[in-house]
Amino acid sequence: MPKICVIGTGYVGLVTGTCFAELGNQVTCVDIIVEKIERLRQGILPIYEPGLEEMVERNTHAGRLHFTTSYSEGLDTAEYIFIAVNTPTGPGQGGADMRYVETAARSIAEELDHYAVIINKSTVPVGSGDVVSRIVASSLKRPDVAFAVVSNPEFLREGAAVQDFMNPDRIVLGSSDPDAARKVATLYLPLRAPFVITDIYTAEMIKYASNAFLATKISFINEIAQICERLGADVKEVAAGMGFDKRIGRSGLDAGLGYGGSCFPKDVRALAHMADEAGLHPQMLHAVMDINYDQRRLIVTKLTSILGSLRGCTIGILGLAFKPNTDDMREAPAVDIIRWITGQGATVRVYDPVARETAEEVLRRENVRMESVQFCGDAYEAAEGVDALLMVTEWNEFKSLNMLQIRSAMRRPVLIDGRNIYEAAEMSRLGFIYRGMGRGTGPAPSILPSGDMTSLPPAQLELEA
Ligand code: NAD
Repeated sequence: MPKICVIGTGYVGLVTGTCFAELGNQVTCVDIIVEKIERLRQGILPIYEPGLEEMVERNTHAGRLHFTTSYSEGLDTAEYIFIAVNTPTGPGQGGADMRYVETAARSIAEELDHYAVIINKSTVPVGSGDVVSRIVASSLKRPDVAFAVVSNPEFLREGAAVQDFMNPDRIVLGSSDPDAARKVATLYLPLRAPFVITDIYTAEMIKYASNAFLATKISFINEIAQICERLGADVKEVAAGMGFDKRIGRSGLDAGLGYGGSCFPKDVRALAHMADEAGLHPQMLHAVMDINYDQRRLIVTKLTSILGSLRGCTIGILGLAFKPNTDDMREAPAVDIIRWITGQGATVRVYDPVARETAEEVLRRENVRMESVQFCGDAYEAAEGVDALLMVTEWNEFKSLNMLQIRSAMRRPVLIDGRNIYEAAEMSRLGFIYRGMGRGTGPAPSILPSGDMTSLPPAQLELEA
C-alpha cells in the first residue's frame, strides 16, 4: 500500500489526503497549526466541504488517514510527499508569496532519510519546482538521500472538491525526471482520467493559464452584461444563446458580481506579475482584474441609484461566502460590498448558510465596522425591515424562498440580484423594484423615498391592495 504524506490540511491538502486514503493509500497529513490537527483528530473539520466530513471519519476509522504536526512522523517511510500549503498574494506587486512552500521544503529536507518524490500541488510560479529542488538539496540532513520533484497542480473547485478530485478532467504532471512523474501517475490510475505529462515549467504554467482563462470568461460576460444592460438586451439569454456553440460552451458565462475566492484573484495577479517581470505587458489580464473589481462597485451604484444616500438605511445581504457550498471568505465580493455600504452609514443584516464564522473573522480583519453588521439566522430574518435586499451568493436555498414573505418583511421592496437567480418579470409581479446584472430591465426609477409605497409602479400597488 503506497505511503503518502500531505503537507498542509487546507481545502486542497485535506481533500487530497482524504481522497488518496479513500483510494486505499496510507496517508498522513501534516500541518503546523496545532489546534487544527487536534480538532481533525477528533473528527472536526477546519473547512466546510460537502461529503468531506464523512470521508475523513471513514478513513480515520479504517486506519488509513492520520493527522500530525510532526514532519518526522508524516515523512516516516513516505514514498510520496505532497506540498499543499497556501501561496497567497505576497506583499508588493501581486506575485505569489512562496514563504510557506519554501518553509515546507526546508522542513521536508530536515527530516527526509529515504528516497521520496516531492510533489508540488500548491499553485506556484513557473520555476518554483527548481526552487524547491534547490532548497531540499541544500538543507538535507543526510546529503546522500536522493529525491525527485514533480509538479502536479490541482484543479478542484471548492464546494465540489471531493467530487472534482475523484472525477478529474485531467491529471497534469511535470518533471525533469519522467520516471518520477510516471510513479506519481500510478497513484491516480484508479481515477481513469487522461494524463498530461510535461516538463515542470509547462505543468506549472498550465495551472495559471487555466485559471486565467476561466477568470477571463467571467470578466468577458460581465463586460457583455454591462453593454446588454445599457442597450436593453438580457445577458442570461445572450449567454444561453452563446453557450450552444461548442467552441464557446455555457459554463463560466454567468454574469454577476465576478469571481472571488482563494484562487482566481491571486492566480491572475500572480500570472500578470510573472509576465510583467518577464518584461511583457499582459493587457488582457489587467483588464480581467479591472472588470472584476468594477462588478462589485456596480451593485453598490445600483443600490444608491435607487435609494439615494445610504445613511441610516438598512440593507439585507443574502450570502457571504465567495460562492455557494463553501465557507471560504477569501476575496469574497461580500467583504468589499459590506465595507462600502457600512462606510456610507448604512447597517447591514446578513445571512449565509455556513460562512458566518469565517465571515465574522474576515470582516473584523478587514476593519469593517462590526457595530453596523447584524448576523441573522435565515434569509427571512435578514429581510426584516430592510430598505433593499442584495443577493450576493447564489446558494440553492435562496432560489426557493417565499419571495412574497420576503417582500412583506422589507421596509422598501428593492431587490438587487447580484447573481441573476430571479426572474425580473416575476419579481416585478410580486411587487419588487428588481435589478439584475445585465438584464436590460429598463432605466432605473428615480430615487425612492423611505417607506413611500405610493411611488411604486401601478401594477405593484394593485398587488398590495
Ligand atoms: P489553505 O490556506 O486552505 O491551506 C493551507 C494549509 O497549509 C493551512 O492549513 C496551513 O496551516 C498549512 N501550512 C502552511 N505552511 C505550512 C508548513 N510549512 N507546513 C505544514 N503546513 C503548512 O490553502 P488551500 O486553499 O488549500 O490552497 C493550497 C494551495 O492549493 C494553494 O497554492 C492554492 O492556490 C492551491 N489550490 C487551491 C484550490 C482551492 O480551491 N482552494 C484549488 C486548486 C489549487
